[in-house]
Amino acid sequence: MYSDDPQFICRHLAEEAPNGYRYRFAWFTGYGKDLNWTCEDCAKSYPSAPEPWLPATKEWLAKNRDTIYWRGICGSPEIKHRQSGLSFSARDLELEDAPISFVDIRPVLGRPTCWQALSTTGRLVLFSTQETKILASVPLEDLGFEITGETGFCISPDNEFAVVSQASGPNAALVNVKTGKIISKLSRGDYHCENSHFPVAFFRNEDRTYLIAASDWNRLDLYDPATGKVLSERGPTCYVNKERPPHYLDYFHGGLCVSPDQQFVVDNGWVWHPMGFLRAWNLPAWLNNEWESEDGPTYRDLACREAWDEPVCWINNFTLASWGWGDEEWMVPAAVLIDVRDGKQLQWFPGPKVRMSGAWPPRRLTESFFFDQYLFAVHDNDGTTVWDIKSGDCLLTDPQVKPWRYHPDSKEFIEITQTGFRVSTLIDACAIE
Ligand SMILES: [Zn+2]
Repeated sequence: MYSDDPQFICRHLAEEAPNGYRYRFAWFTGYGKDLNWTCEDCAKSYPSAPEPWLPATKEWLAKNRDTIYWRGICGSPEIKHRQSGLSFSARDLELEDAPISFVDIRPVLGRPTCWQALSTTGRLVLFSTQETKILASVPLEDLGFEITGETGFCISPDNEFAVVSQASGPNAALVNVKTGKIISKLSRGDYHCENSHFPVAFFRNEDRTYLIAASDWNRLDLYDPATGKVLSERGPTCYVNKERPPHYLDYFHGGLCVSPDQQFVVDNGWVWHPMGFLRAWNLPAWLNNEWESEDGPTYRDLACREAWDEPVCWINNFTLASWGWGDEEWMVPAAVLIDVRDGKQLQWFPGPKVRMSGAWPPRRLTESFFFDQYLFAVHDNDGTTVWDIKSGDCLLTDPQVKPWRYHPDSKEFIEITQTGFRVSTLIDACAIE
């Protein structure tokens, strides 16, 4: 049995279909995550329940699970709440002599309370929330594109390199964080580039830093960020003279997310018609096989639905939390936990609402899922909810806290505001006692 298999089915689904095609609706009973399956006609009668419900037996599921097509959802699962001693403590921060506004900010790993921010005027500003002061401010060389609300920004784990990208455009630049000089300019071409985040991420392997960036709609390359040299030279990944190349990948790469131990990367892209596909593969394996991102032995499909570039975060070194339960266009707000080593869904629970990225610009570039002991989900109107991932219980809702990023070393959430920054931390009253 799967964790989201039905308990009961309507009698029409139990019958053999004359033409072989059948559709099913997930019918939530309102008790926990309990759900049944119905046919389309019974779904139309919601909330009037079909009579009788028949048990969905193991044998019936084994025979029918993959041959009855998903068509929609009736009702909703129960969202559970539990009293907790959790609350947020927030403070607003203004930096003296800081540029007026920032487009994005990233934690400097290994340096608690230190953050690297990108200003709208093209400066990299390193500051500490503890000392409330700027530690370094460096102007960037001309990127060749404007810095706007659609500008992506990420830094390497050692804070040596940054990539500034057109999140919904074709161009990006790899820069030296200390000097602001451009190491190399990157491009993914303009074929449907507006429909997915510029794919870019850094990772570490055996004391070296690597950059992953898109060089075409369906191609990622590995780079040495110190020089900009391509480390994944290989044959063509697009048709040449109308001929399909070996290892051809019919997939638009999207936002990338590297596991805490730097072993896996998750790709949040899409395919025609359109459908979102979450994929994962192993990074050390990629260093030994230049085709690993196309069809290597460690490559796994994790989820398929009519949404992509939606929030994901790592629960541990091999478990990903991905937003949304369901399939295609029928989704309920939820967190789904997936093992990236085999692509299997481990668990899910309903409730977490997030900022949706959407398939068209302008899209949300801020993170909306964070994990540190609890899962944090951020929504623009509802603020932050905090979840126990074992029980699926909601432990706290704070409508005022809407962080963009999280610093794991100082356990600070940060949001860019009109006048500076808002820093929030989670307080556990039970832990203090
Ligand atoms: Zn029915």
